[in-house]
Amino acid sequence: MQTLLGMTIDEVKQFAVEIGEKPFRGKQIFVWLNRGASSFDEMTDLPKALREKLKGCAQVGGCRAVKVQEDPSDGTRKILFEAAGPAEQTDGQSGSVDGRTAADTFEGVFMKYSYGNSLCVSSQVGCRMGCRFCASSLGGFVRNLSAGEMLGQVLEAERVTGEKVGHIVIMGMGEPFDNYENVAGFLRLLHAEEGRNMGWRNMTVSTSGIIPMIRQFGEDFPQVNLAISLHRMTDEGRSRIMPVNRKYPVDELIEAAREYTVKTHRRVTFEYALIEGENDSDEDVRLMTEKLSGMLCHVNLIPLNKVDETGFSGSSRRRAQEIAGMLETAGIPATVRRQLGSQIDGACGQLRLKQQTVSD
Ligand code: SAH
Repeated sequence: MQTLLGMTIDEVKQFAVEIGEKPFRGKQIFVWLNRGASSFDEMTDLPKALREKLKGCAQVGGCRAVKVQEDPSDGTRKILFEAAGPAEQTDGQSGSVDGRTAADTFEGVFMKYSYGNSLCVSSQVGCRMGCRFCASSLGGFVRNLSAGEMLGQVLEAERVTGEKVGHIVIMGMGEPFDNYENVAGFLRLLHAEEGRNMGWRNMTVSTSGIIPMIRQFGEDFPQVNLAISLHRMTDEGRSRIMPVNRKYPVDELIEAAREYTVKTHRRVTFEYALIEGENDSDEDVRLMTEKLSGMLCHVNLIPLNKVDETGFSGSSRRRAQEIAGMLETAGIPATVRRQLGSQIDGACGQLRLKQQTVSD
């Protein structure tokens, strides 16, 4: 069984030839897949015989929603996904995690903004990075998601919400730069002219700070937005909450970000989750202004979403506003992230965590 969603248009054409069809059939299939067809029967401009042939040798792939939670106050929807089975089994019997473990599920968050709808996509099931405040790390690493499973999150989110997704941010579960090839494949598929034709600037990738891949990303995708999870300004403090800092120390990370802005002329976003008593002192802010001074950057302050298991709690919104003001005064653009979906366990990994606790 070949899984077709996630292949490039050339790969689907090649597949068509391999099963004795003309390349243009491959193009038709690619277009259907990228428009969200979840079965071959939906591909109505293919001859019936070809649709039957496809059912025997291929599956659509992607993923399906097993749970959807909506925050009625702002329309945010948190979706728990599982990988889709063979096409002939995707007949709408979702809603369970039977046959699969709850551990092999991953999350996406659909958010409404003034500029359009955005989906926060997961790149891995679980995560290897071990950030102490993050729910995605709690169960350890399970597996990488394929390009098709990332694209599947976008398509399934559109199916579930009945709305279009115009922007994506890879800020769900996982470290995208620990699964670079598949993430790169996903971004190229989003951009494909015969596919979704999404502009590079509508895509954002967030990393915990894997320096060599920041360099690579700047070369491969100079127009895709880059966000870096900073969270602390000293090696001692950052290594304690983000083990990745032991390998890639904070000053080198900031230097790599600076190089990236010089090379691409694109602004970097630094994410800074405010943790009460951990990284929200005046001295922390002073270090931030000192180290980021003069860089083409923007600081996104996020009062930490509380994850009970981690023992950390977020700073108040008032303190967050105060810090934003201090940064602005020092000439560093800063905003406090609008908190969407806080009623529905918006922080990464939290929905899966609940599902596991329920099914354990
Ligand atoms: N691994 C990547 C992308 C996923 S996380 C990265 O680290 O950037 C997306 C963002 O959410 C990161 O900045 C992460 O540090 C942050 N985050 C994780 N847990 C959080 C929580 N409980 N509250 C607020 N932000 C959190």
